[in-house]
Amino acid sequence: MSSEPTSTSVYIHFPWCARKCPYCDFATEPIRAEALPHEEYADAVLRELDARAADLQGRALKSIFFGGGTPSLWGPSALGRALRGITGAFDRVRDDLEVTVECNPSSLTRENVALLREAGVGRLSIGVQSLRDPHLRFLGRLHDSVRAAAALEEATQEMPRVSADLMFGMPGQTLEELGEDIARIAEAGVRHVSAYALTIEEKTMFGSLHRAGKLRVAPEERYADLFEHAERRFTDLGWTHYEVSNYAAEGEESRHNLHYWRGGAYVGLGAAAVGCLDHGPGRAERWRNDPNPQRYLTQRTLEAEVEELGPDEIIREALMLGLRTVDGMNLVATEMRAGQDPKAGREREIERAIDNGNLEQVGDWLRVPHDRWLKLDGIVRDLF
Ligand code: SF4
Repeated sequence: MSSEPTSTSVYIHFPWCARKCPYCDFATEPIRAEALPHEEYADAVLRELDARAADLQGRALKSIFFGGGTPSLWGPSALGRALRGITGAFDRVRDDLEVTVECNPSSLTRENVALLREAGVGRLSIGVQSLRDPHLRFLGRLHDSVRAAAALEEATQEMPRVSADLMFGMPGQTLEELGEDIARIAEAGVRHVSAYALTIEEKTMFGSLHRAGKLRVAPEERYADLFEHAERRFTDLGWTHYEVSNYAAEGEESRHNLHYWRGGAYVGLGAAAVGCLDHGPGRAERWRNDPNPQRYLTQRTLEAEVEELGPDEIIREALMLGLRTVDGMNLVATEMRAGQDPKAGREREIERAIDNGNLEQVGDWLRVPHDRWLKLDGIVRDLF
């Protein structure tokens, strides 16, 4: 009797952008459009997929996510070739396979959206960030508010599912501005939003400016006001705040991200991609590919780092990711993956957090109540 295949997702990292944004610390390099190695990169990704073929045995493909960088710079035919290779490499593909491509408004055209749709893409995630020109200029984005609105319209007309990224915490940003952006995005037919606070990362241009005292940022308490205001606006729309930074209309949750937050197995392909596959209870392997795109294209060694995860790491990861979601962390599923009771050794900390109202157990789920999400990082840290 054959066992049920393990649901597995695939993440493909596209490591280039038209320009590096001053706040971004993702593994991405600026590149001129003419220099993009469209087909070569597809070849390299397919070569890596081939090298990982043995790891895909007995797995069912659940979702594919093209992230970056800016995957909308990748020619749709090359991206489509990588996509076909990935679906063909699995013995089984789930009927509800979700295929998402991250896009920037500046590199999204209606024609490209149609070609991506033909290639089998069903969901776009668009890096809108704001619909206000002063904020877009502050963020150093290549698009303005007119292009952002046009991109949303082009995407929603051609693609069944569209998500938008929003950023909050730019200096001077008002609650009303954020609320109006949310309303306009929903009016455009978008049914999923990822809303992130602007954070100043050390190794970025904003990081240097901040250290030199040359960057004005919003005060800490402003972030909390904006976070809560966004939540009220989405709740008014009838959407669910299903993860700390993510909101969805009914049934529009990102299946790829939910799989990841629930500790599901995923394969990472491409320069700087991270993957993590389970190898039985209490054993998993996580790898990170070489972040240098040139080396990734030309050399056959893929991984820059490989890490063996044991029961403790698997449980800590499950707490860190699962407690970010509205359902929380499933105790039974985590025990099956870790081969160990996730509560063992942290009974006192869990009890204290429950007494303080920072945690609650509902059936098999351990979760952080909604009104404590702003304190989430500290609550999770106490359980480590
Ligand atoms: S477009 Fe996105 S990935 Fe590229 S530099 Fe800007 S924020 Fe980073």
